[in-house]
Amino acid sequence: MHNKIAQKKIVILGAGFAGLRCAKILEGFYPGQVTLIDKNNHHLYTPELYELKEKRVKLPITAKAEFLQKEVADWRRLDYDYLVLAVGAQTNYYNIPGLKDNALTFKNLEDIERIRKISAGDISIIGGGVTGVELAAQLAIKLEGERIKLIEGSPCILSNLEESFKIKVERRLKKLGIDILCDYRLNKVEPGRIFFENGEILKFDNLIWTGGVKMGEYKVDKYLRADGEKNVFAVGDCASVNPGMIRPALEQAEIAAMNIKNSIEGKPLVIYQPKFRGIFIPLGGYSAAVKIGKMKMLGFLPWLIKELVNFLYKKTYGV
Ligand SMILES: Cc1cc2nc3c(=O)[nH]c(=O)nc-3n(C[C@H](O)[C@H](O)[C@H](O)COP(=O)(O)OP(=O)(O)OC[C@H]3O[C@@H](n4cnc5c(N)ncnc54)[C@H](O)[C@@H]3O)c2cc1C
Repeated sequence: MHNKIAQKKIVILGAGFAGLRCAKILEGFYPGQVTLIDKNNHHLYTPELYELKEKRVKLPITAKAEFLQKEVADWRRLDYDYLVLAVGAQTNYYNIPGLKDNALTFKNLEDIERIRKISAGDISIIGGGVTGVELAAQLAIKLEGERIKLIEGSPCILSNLEESFKIKVERRLKKLGIDILCDYRLNKVEPGRIFFENGEILKFDNLIWTGGVKMGEYKVDKYLRADGEKNVFAVGDCASVNPGMIRPALEQAEIAAMNIKNSIEGKPLVIYQPKFRGIFIPLGGYSAAVKIGKMKMLGFLPWLIKELVNFLYKKTYGV
């Protein structure tokens, strides 16, 4: 790349899956200044968060880009020629009274520290998506004999997945002694008590909210440029095209890096096209469920494949 072109300043905001991948790809072809900014000094490996072990999920930021640890309140004030927004998604409490004040979340290192300290009592997990399911299964094994409820507002858990797959997962959760309550929509939460729209009230000792994230803060065009900006790209959970999963976030990061290169070189931009991908759900112990295309499996083998995927990701990033 021509020296003059390499004088462009590229800033990546967020060193999660998308931001870090973008920095790594740029290393391969951009000799100029790349700055990676994150409020934390680590990269959080969420697929293993359910294990509640900090050393498994707190990964170093191994990109060669200059790293700045700071929380950015307004990206418009950053000094850049090209900017990649990769700030992820925030927890959504849907303005449910008392929820934020009375529930733990399951999203970062502080959360796993708090959840790890739970040792007994009535545990209610609200949100029957993948995150709620994997956490419920893990806690059922860790706290054998304690009462664990998985509560979902819609008529079934894992509502985006097909029936036969859900049935397999439900069977496993019930075997672990987890109580699954569907069609239970929250009205409000008070210390120790959840009030539902159907009039029922449930007592809890520990409440964990996995029921909502604010995704897609930035609307992107087909080249992943944000909100009509020419030199600002948005990727991962903060982009309107991400379904809240890692694989597509990594692919978007690659497209954004490519489009910065093409833009600098005056070449046409590449269109982002989502590809098919599978889903893994850890189900406690050495068990997991996997769905890739028509293939659905539950048990030890999917768990092993999941471990391999995790191992390969970490190895790619020099961990
Ligand atoms: C418990 C859990 C388990 C999951 N398991 C899976 C799974 O098995 N498979 C899967 O595909 N997906 C999984 N996901 C979803 C997956 O983690 C997200 O889709 C993925 O993290 C999105 O990557 P990202 O780079 O967009 O955002 P993130 O990985 O969230 O990265 C965003 C980064 O931006 C930083 N940041 C945010 N705001 C600022 C700011 N203002 N200033 C500076 N830095 C900032 C954050 O510190 C963070 O490092 C899971 C999510 C959770 C919560």
